[in-house]
Amino acid sequence: MSASFLERRFFKLPKNIQSAKSAGFCYGVKKAVDTAKKLKIDNPNKKIYILGALIHNTLVTKELEELGIFTVDELPVNADNAICIIRSHGETPERIEQIKEAGFEVVDLTCPDVKKVQQKAVNLADEGYFVVIIGKENHPEVIAIRANACLHSENVVVVNSVDEVQAVKDALKSHKRIGVVIQTTQTISHVQEVINVLVPLAKELKIENTICPSTSNRQKETLELAKNSDLVVVVGSKTSANTTHLAQICEPLTKTIHIETAQELNNYKELIEKAENISVTAGASTPQNLIEEVINKLEKGE
Ligand code: SF4
Repeated sequence: MSASFLERRFFKLPKNIQSAKSAGFCYGVKKAVDTAKKLKIDNPNKKIYILGALIHNTLVTKELEELGIFTVDELPVNADNAICIIRSHGETPERIEQIKEAGFEVVDLTCPDVKKVQQKAVNLADEGYFVVIIGKENHPEVIAIRANACLHSENVVVVNSVDEVQAVKDALKSHKRIGVVIQTTQTISHVQEVINVLVPLAKELKIENTICPSTSNRQKETLELAKNSDLVVVVGSKTSANTTHLAQICEPLTKTIHIETAQELNNYKELIEKAENISVTAGASTPQNLIEEVINKLEKGE
């Protein structure tokens, strides 16, 4: 065993630790969280509910609850003096109407980039394209995009793999004109795989690249960091699509760990001990204080 290995193992020499500039809240998430907090300050006597988690992060959900902003799956029957926040992922038009009819004041915090995807899907439907949404069928953002497009056309499908395209290929082929929108947090490499299968099915293929700029920049930076690191630590919720995609980008290139809390680093001590160059990146829904906690823990070697 070499001396340097012994030193590193027992004296925990400092490592080269860098963090991604793009790590943490994107502008859409930041705006949603800040607006929700301000809403409570401006309306201290109103009950404030968010239908589904504002963002995919349990720490943020807890913090909002402590401020009196409650995340619910179903709204209460009594809408008196109550506000319902529509989260950054968006909501179906039908559900928004129901909430208004139930008497809630609606504050729509759908991210502007998500709104753009909804509008582009509607435009494609109006222009007579068979609308293909590349994304996860059960993701709230995709559910809302699909619901908007379905108000304008019955020819709308969600696909997230080559196999899922194969399952609807006859309908797509007979329609001939295919219009594509993409869930904002998809990776470009995954989208390319799906597009490759769509090309031979269409006479005309119109692709709206709706991966949001914040996501694509974060993914590009993460890719570069992964190429130059022995280990990448991805911080953020495992239910967050964009955080999970960051881990997927790194995995083929270098050792990767995806953690939700700084304490989870304890489970990877051996891996961390062996790494010289460690990069830390985080999804759009990961709070800055959590990223700092992870970096501190790595720097202290504790
Ligand atoms: S990841 Fe992109 S689309 Fe999603 S909230 Fe952030 S800026 Fe908006």
